[in-house]
Amino acid sequence: MSNMKRIAIVGAGLGGLAAGSLLQKAGFNVQVYEQSPVFSRLGAGIHMGPNVLKVFRRMGIEQQLEDLASHPDFWFSRDGETGEYLSRIPLGEFARKEYGAAYVTVHRGDLQAMQMTSMSPGSIHFGKCLSSVEDSGSDVVLRFQDGSEERADIVIGADGINSKLREHLLGVEAPTYSGWVAHRALIRGEQLRKYNLDFEDCVKWWSEDRHLMVYYTTKSRDEYYYVSGVPHPAWDFKGSFVDSSQQEMLETFGHYHPVVQALIECSESVTKWPLLNRQPLPVWSEGRIVLLGDACHPMKPHMAQGAAMAIEDAAMLTRCLTETGLEDYSTAFRLYEVNRKERASGVQAVSNANTFLRTQEDPAWVYGYDVFAAPLKSEGA
Ligand code: FAD
Repeated sequence: MSNMKRIAIVGAGLGGLAAGSLLQKAGFNVQVYEQSPVFSRLGAGIHMGPNVLKVFRRMGIEQQLEDLASHPDFWFSRDGETGEYLSRIPLGEFARKEYGAAYVTVHRGDLQAMQMTSMSPGSIHFGKCLSSVEDSGSDVVLRFQDGSEERADIVIGADGINSKLREHLLGVEAPTYSGWVAHRALIRGEQLRKYNLDFEDCVKWWSEDRHLMVYYTTKSRDEYYYVSGVPHPAWDFKGSFVDSSQQEMLETFGHYHPVVQALIECSESVTKWPLLNRQPLPVWSEGRIVLLGDACHPMKPHMAQGAAMAIEDAAMLTRCLTETGLEDYSTAFRLYEVNRKERASGVQAVSNANTFLRTQEDPAWVYGYDVFAAPLKSEGA
């Protein structure tokens, strides 16, 4: 093992863990370095479409996820005020049959914990905040804030929107504030029982300039979740979120349907997150360093596909490194970019525009994609 070439992944988010697991299963020697001191059930809900469950199948966590997650039969889009249905996108059994896997919604912390179990014991290192990196040409030195150092043959930057590795490749540049925020709240399912209202499994309430996406995060429906998208003036963005309140939700969504009013009434704690963005990057790799996920193509979350793109990236990068071998990492990195850029940038553009599934449309181009089966484009393509 000690003579095996080493892959270092910086960031144990949904993209980094997918890369770690898939590369280990493909026989590579992989270590993951994460700045957080310990794992915690951070964040809130997340959608995972059939395009991602096909990747989880390879990671060996598809069934585990299916057992825990909520399985909506439809994605409904409804008029925020009148409740009129704008679209009914079939998921459930339809998704299994048409797209080759289930569509689920889940708590992202639960998903992350599941991803961790698919990695070799001892290969995720917490409390390792990357402070600098040096590509010597023959290997890469990673230096961490705790004073420790590691060396690797290649490094994968899965370190999110404020990526240190992106900064190393392209210089310091803060992400752009999109002009929108997301309010987020988790609601205990039992609180909803007092209402004579239908709390649907997966529904997006829309009006002209704002929306509220709502869904369960568990199969047992004991946790319901909402996330908004609302235009908002900039603030100083110290920290990744600030506290919000029922009052602010009422000011923002007070004119919405009674179901939404009930959700606001049940919100014990609401937070508010700036939605940040970047223009597509001119390069995805340089030398022995390559980027994936939000480090590479962050997007507004309105299509619920940001993490999905990070996980698809991880699968494609694994496929390319398996194809070329680690010695020829530079060919693998170019192949990876050629095979990911168009799709990730396409999803980024639609997600930023916030049009996806607002009206009846066919989402097969997103959910039907199989990153392992898609024909590999050659470098010149
Ligand atoms: P991240 O998840 O950001 O992970 C990066 C990791 O790197 C973190 O663990 C971080 O601690 C670590 N790190 C950072 N810097 C360092 C350092 N210097 N040293 C060591 N470690 C470091 N996507 C979906 O697919 N479906 C959804 O339903 C969905 N909903 C969303 C809702 C909201 C409100 C938002 C904001 C986003 C949503 N997304 C969704 C998008 C999704 O959250 C991101 O696209 C996804 O988390 C990106 O994964 P990643 O692994 O690239 O980065």
